Amino acid sequence: MTTRHTTSLLRSTFAAAAIALMLPATPAMAQQKFVTIGTGGVTGVYYAAGGAICRLMNKDRAKHGIRCSVESTGGSVFNINTIRAGELDFGVAQSDWQYHAYNGTKVFEKDGKFTDLRAVFSIHAEPFTVLARKEANIKQFTDFKGKRFNVGNPGSGTRASLDELLSAMKWTLADFGLASELKADEQGAALCDNKIDGFFYGVGHPSAAIQDPITTCGAKLVPLTGPAVDSLVAKYPFYAKVAIPGGMYAGNPDATQTYGVLASFVTSSKVSDDVVYQLCKAVFDNFDDFKKLHPAFVNLDPKQMIKDGLSAPLHPGAIKFYKEKGWM
Ligand code: GLU
Repeated sequence: MTTRHTTSLLRSTFAAAAIALMLPATPAMAQQKFVTIGTGGVTGVYYAAGGAICRLMNKDRAKHGIRCSVESTGGSVFNINTIRAGELDFGVAQSDWQYHAYNGTKVFEKDGKFTDLRAVFSIHAEPFTVLARKEANIKQFTDFKGKRFNVGNPGSGTRASLDELLSAMKWTLADFGLASELKADEQGAALCDNKIDGFFYGVGHPSAAIQDPITTCGAKLVPLTGPAVDSLVAKYPFYAKVAIPGGMYAGNPDATQTYGVLASFVTSSKVSDDVVYQLCKAVFDNFDDFKKLHPAFVNLDPKQMIKDGLSAPLHPGAIKFYKEKGWM
């Protein structure tokens, strides 16, 4: 062995020992933190939103040591309950269910107020979207009386919001000929296979879940208007009347009047300030990239995202970042 080899061997042994000695002193460098985001079905927009957030976060993994991953889930109510159980760090949730979870009302009444729920930001608008089979000859929502309708899976925000609409209309599931509980990813195919006549989905636009059945079997958007919708919008701050723009989907040239909520990004006060700060930084310091990751994000404005549709308090890690930006 040459002197040079010996020296370099000694040097690398010494370096390894030095690193080993240093490890306990720098736990932040040594430990990878893992965070998981609960989303929705893979053909919805939540899954894309979670994917976009993780992608931007993971880009700087070497700097902050946090590895982000997404999970496809049953939707808003499931995400909130699973954050509460400590099994998800973040989740996407409709603004109506964020409100009810924080206040312990409606589907959250039996578990009581989720006081540790924290808002991070809101994302895209989610118009309540009703799609009908072309041949079912549906002009308005009440035409579904006695027909086969997918009311959504329990655990989705969609289902919980539909239940609110039905009770405002004084309808029950028995008013449908069949009320199926298919998941969001299954309802488009069921519609085109003539297993159901229509479905209701609270989702951003454009979405593959709506696009696919329109392309495959000419499905039609149905307006959602009338006294029950008027009373819900008048009663609750998180509902607003919205229109799905005409021409958003082929064969549906006119704007479709409906009402809806905002998608929001939530967490728990038990998640550390640093993790939430890094997540906000990843999204807003790369905001042009974020907006390009899904067409439903093109019109997003950070100033609105940090205030609209949030009823739980903002997480302190988010507040820290927004203050640094001069947004608060
Ligand atoms: N708003 C839907 C829900 O919580 C999910 C929509 C989506 O996945 O984009 O049920």
